[in-house]
Amino acid sequence: VAGSVEAKHGSLRLLERLAHRATVERVEHATRRMRGITIVGTGLIGLDWMPGQQVRVMFKDPTQLRTWLSPRDLAGMSRTYSLWDYDREAGRYQLIVMDHAGDGPGTRWSRTVQPGDTIFVGSPEGRFVARVPSSYHLFIGEETAAVCFGAILRGLPAGTPALGVLQAGTPEDHLDLPGGDGFVRVELGDRVASPSQVLLDAVRSLILPEGAGTAYLAGEAKTIQAIRRHLLNERGWTRPAILTKPFWTPGKRGLE
Ligand SMILES: Cc1cc2nc3c(=O)[nH]c(=O)nc-3n(C[C@H](O)[C@H](O)[C@H](O)COP(=O)(O)OP(=O)(O)OC[C@H]3O[C@@H](n4cnc5c(N)ncnc54)[C@H](O)[C@@H]3O)c2cc1C
Repeated sequence: VAGSVEAKHGSLRLLERLAHRATVERVEHATRRMRGITIVGTGLIGLDWMPGQQVRVMFKDPTQLRTWLSPRDLAGMSRTYSLWDYDREAGRYQLIVMDHAGDGPGTRWSRTVQPGDTIFVGSPEGRFVARVPSSYHLFIGEETAAVCFGAILRGLPAGTPALGVLQAGTPEDHLDLPGGDGFVRVELGDRVASPSQVLLDAVRSLILPEGAGTAYLAGEAKTIQAIRRHLLNERGWTRPAILTKPFWTPGKRGLE
């Protein structure tokens, strides 16, 4: 019995290392359809982070056995969100979550989350981060992608040229990005999001600087594939110069 209690405590400790217990500090509108959610916790102090990385947010308590026994709870247990910003000393994550008007657990959480709520979050992870040095950086994506773009842009060495093509539902839905005032902005309106012809057309008409840049494509999966093909086949880019990160696509749940 003592052994099994120890094993249980051991796995709980491991779980708490992977999933830090934290508190929601603030919830505010970042745009009409996006909420800024600030999460703070002692377990979040001093973690390694590179701008562009994401964290796992768990809506169910992973330290409770019942979470793991219910298939419904497990399917909707977590979603992945980019860090808009991270205060390493204070242990403070800033997320920005898009309300896509659906009924997925991520969107539902963003609509109902309140300051004071307990939440479990993972450590920063992922390889969608700035590639430096690069003669310029090209950011292409929609609202959800704008979050990690903001973090990467803020972390670029001063004076690094950056261009972007950003899509949002309507003109009010664009997120302000640090250094992103000159980016091309397009609106999807009522058109099909997957793949987005609007975004692809805007990229097609973009005049790119001379030299080898790095492209960051994130957001809706089919749109990213189409834009990647365009850069490779019509613009002569090489594969290693294009970083891609699919965040969502119709009919699939929680891509990561
Ligand atoms: C690495 C990574 C980073 C991410 N970062 C962010 C971020 O910073 N901010 C953010 O808001 N999301 C981000 N996402 C997406 C996020 O993880 C969820 O997929 C999203 O919040 C939807 O979750 P859900 O539970 O509401 O819907 P799900 O149950 O996952 O999906 C159900 C359905 O909802 C629809 N749907 C999902 N997302 C959208 C959308 N954006 N627009 C229109 N329809 C949609 C699709 O039809 C999908 O099949 C990221 C994803 C990944 C993989």
